[in-house]
Amino acid sequence: MCGIFGVFGVKNAANYIYFGLYALQHRGQESVGIAVFDGKKIREWKNLGLVSEVFNEEILKNLPGSIGIGHVRYSTTGLTILQNVQPFCVNFAKKTIAIAHNGNLVNAYQIRCKLEEEGHIFQTTMDSEVIVHLIAKNHKKGIISAICETMKKIRGAYSVLLLYENSLIAFRDPWGFRPLSLGILDGGYIISSETCAFDLIGVQYLRDIEPGEVLVIDKEGPQSFKVFEKDEIKLSHCIFEFIYFSRPDSYIFGKNVYIVRKNLGRNLYKECPLSADFVMPFPDSGNYAAIGYAQASGLPLEFGMIRNHYIGRTFIQPSEKIRDISVKIKLNPVKDILKNKEIIIIDDSLVRGTTSRDRLKSIKEAGAKNIHFLLSCPPIRFPCFFGIDFPTASELIAAKHNVEEIRRFLDIKTLYYLSIEGLLSAVEELKDRVCLACFTGEYPLEVDFTFRKDIAEI
Ligand code: AMP
Repeated sequence: MCGIFGVFGVKNAANYIYFGLYALQHRGQESVGIAVFDGKKIREWKNLGLVSEVFNEEILKNLPGSIGIGHVRYSTTGLTILQNVQPFCVNFAKKTIAIAHNGNLVNAYQIRCKLEEEGHIFQTTMDSEVIVHLIAKNHKKGIISAICETMKKIRGAYSVLLLYENSLIAFRDPWGFRPLSLGILDGGYIISSETCAFDLIGVQYLRDIEPGEVLVIDKEGPQSFKVFEKDEIKLSHCIFEFIYFSRPDSYIFGKNVYIVRKNLGRNLYKECPLSADFVMPFPDSGNYAAIGYAQASGLPLEFGMIRNHYIGRTFIQPSEKIRDISVKIKLNPVKDILKNKEIIIIDDSLVRGTTSRDRLKSIKEAGAKNIHFLLSCPPIRFPCFFGIDFPTASELIAAKHNVEEIRRFLDIKTLYYLSIEGLLSAVEELKDRVCLACFTGEYPLEVDFTFRKDIAEI
């Protein structure tokens, strides 16, 4: 998963992109980059690391211009190496183009192999690079036709920003897998993966970039192009954006994430009404569903585990003596709250099961009596090919084990997963427009089960 942010027509665009990426940091922590156009050429700065680690005032000062794009990365195709940091910038036919992509293409490797046979040389191992190659291949017909041709060839999830000469261009796949919103600021335009980044810099939300739309913003203003016929557009918004990925203060696919998460918790209570001393989340992922469950049940809400918000990377390997440091460094139990209590713990999801088992163990060690563990999504049984980094089916605990086996593995009194119906009712009118493939195995388009993140590595 990744976050993208673009600016058109606002002085010192790099400063706004910096703050935009700061607000989108939860979408990717592996690397970050900014590319800006100063009227003559594109300048860029990028590196592995967090926004605050890679950029400072001096660097931003050296990125002048009023058009630019930025990217934070969480890889789903291509390893975490410097050459794969975006925006990815190339020169062709006396033109420079920079791309920032969120999502994952399902046919990128096949396209890449074909292009390589034709003599194309690739600089990275990312799926995003095929987009640039296809655009360059068709550029003689003009940039808009080249993008339209490209969108007809690539399949999968793509919310994309391009910096091309004096224009900012956005386009989005016809399934609408990943969010992408448009806003205005001081007469200029801003495009962001999530609206939480708008709030930070005072952008007024205008609308979402439509699934299957190309939006070109240049000195003439925004112009919209539709690439697909109505019957070619089958909406499949990623439901995991609501469950886990997006920030609760964002509006995605037209809905506020906080409210949806609260609905998930309320539905959990409808399906699994338990009594206990209190309800608590695993913070922060379970916070809003726990509020929903507590409000629906009338049970008190406590924070029995405290999160350290200042975790960067830890360089010291824990020794045997401090073996549970990896859990406690992030979440530490509050003994006086937990001791001898019957507790309902809410979290958003169980992926491999290992983090949750360690956390539940530390809750038990703190003296909790009975633990009921409730998840605000159904069992994740199938890998995601559209940008959420879910491992292969063999690593997904619910792909190999039933609920009772997982309960025993977690060593708790109750384990309950929200049903598909409970999940869909939380997103209300979007219920027929979401991708549920990680729960049902029904993928909205053909996928290749042999796909690996490092498919293009040498
Ligand atoms: P585990 O017990 O190892 O399955 O980890 C479960 C935790 O991972 C939950 O708290 C989730 O919020 C979190 N989680 C869910 N999806 C992802 C993801 N794609 N990447 C990283 N963590 C995730």
